[in-house]
Amino acid sequence: MLVYKFGGTSVGSAERMMQVSDIITGGEQKIVVLSAVSGTTNSLVTICDAYYAKDKTLADKLVEDFRPKYDKHIYDLLHDEASRVEANALMEEKYALLKSYDINDFSEVQEREIHAQGELISTKLMQLYLQEKGVNSALIPALDFMRTENGEPLYGEIEKRLSATLAQHPNVDLFITQGYICTNEFEQVDNLKRGGSDYTASIIGACANAKEVQIWTDIDGMHNNDPRFVEGTKAVECLTYDEAAELAYFGAKILHPLTVLPAKKKDIPVRLKNTMVPEAFGTVIGPTCDESIPVKSIAAKNGIVAIKIRSSRMLMAYGFLKNVFQIFEDYKTPIDMITTSEVAVSLTVDKTDALPQIIEDLEKLGCVEVDDNQSIVCVVGQNLIEDASVVSGVVKALESLKVRMISYGGSANNISILIPTENKNEALNLLHSALYNESLV
Ligand code: ADP
Ligand code: ASP
Ligand code: MG
Repeated sequence: MLVYKFGGTSVGSAERMMQVSDIITGGEQKIVVLSAVSGTTNSLVTICDAYYAKDKTLADKLVEDFRPKYDKHIYDLLHDEASRVEANALMEEKYALLKSYDINDFSEVQEREIHAQGELISTKLMQLYLQEKGVNSALIPALDFMRTENGEPLYGEIEKRLSATLAQHPNVDLFITQGYICTNEFEQVDNLKRGGSDYTASIIGACANAKEVQIWTDIDGMHNNDPRFVEGTKAVECLTYDEAAELAYFGAKILHPLTVLPAKKKDIPVRLKNTMVPEAFGTVIGPTCDESIPVKSIAAKNGIVAIKIRSSRMLMAYGFLKNVFQIFEDYKTPIDMITTSEVAVSLTVDKTDALPQIIEDLEKLGCVEVDDNQSIVCVVGQNLIEDASVVSGVVKALESLKVRMISYGGSANNISILIPTENKNEALNLLHSALYNESLV
């Protein structure tokens, strides 16, 4: 069994869906996970915002805005009258549903139901196209088997339900399903957070004991820096699970931050491929890979808040850090970076919903300073601590910027640097020039 996942751009038009169909038909048995057509989830989020703002006229208008795009998509993709009728009926049903909510009774439950519609539409359109082409495929509803509890996948339950679902189609080699969406412990429609289709594919891969998980997107693999902000980036052929996990967590948008974990548990390779250039090698993520390249890639994550707690009592004392960490645990807020000195500790968080309470509690331990609008820039590779030229190169490259914290040595894979977000692009470019010179590549 193979698991393939196609992102929003890869299913973003009729032409793209046809390309996907060429990639997935034939060969080994596959489960194909699809995202919503590009832009759809963003629009669904905006529709929910309109409901929250009690602006039903705007919500209805935003729903109507889908019409020209999907009319064209269906017209270009499907040619049998019967499948066009079915697709148009599906869209009318979705438009009616999206307009049916009550502005006075709109909450997270309805919001998540709305967010799920993009994947439900794209998979149905793909299945209609495959049927029209005579491909023997089955559409399997993710809501039937993707079960979560407290936002975490319930692996045992998913495995059991998935194998029961697959067993209903003994003669089928191609299964189409929705990424991103799931059913939670209250039997409500839920999701794996934005970009979550990658995570769906890896969870399914682990539960189906797949030979490989392939994430098909609009670029030829993980690049050695963020191509949105740096020119001349190149695809990296191979990454370890740990390197890929660090890059995804610290901002490499190509992968949802949790994608690697389920595959790593079962030692399943994850391959990143380009739908538009299927022949490009892409990136393979696995347990080991070439150790001769010290720096594999650079990523950056925005929305970071730095907190410094200074206490005179920390001098020669113990128990201070424990008390600090306890406060973050009380508010279920993970800490990303931490540096300490004899009298102060600085740390960073990106989850800020409980920040006011956290600061109030921290003030009982010492004097607290908070800096927002920070970014973590993360240099990722193997054995970074063994090669002093990398860390000295990083420090030297950023000497003109206001570096707020550096974390080095916590893992062999990562050097993290905290800088003001306004300097992020400059930092990525400076590091690119400094670290990918002849001697380090
Ligand atoms: P999909 O819709 O297929 O899930 P995404 O937009 O989520 O695609 O991810 C692909 C995008 O990730 C690329 O178009 C690229 O702009 C961005 N990206 C950010 N960092 C990297 C990186 N290091 N390597 C490759 N792509 C990256
Ligand atoms: N459609 C969802 C999103 O846009 C999930 C995904 O594409 O992975 O976030
Ligand atoms: Mg994505």
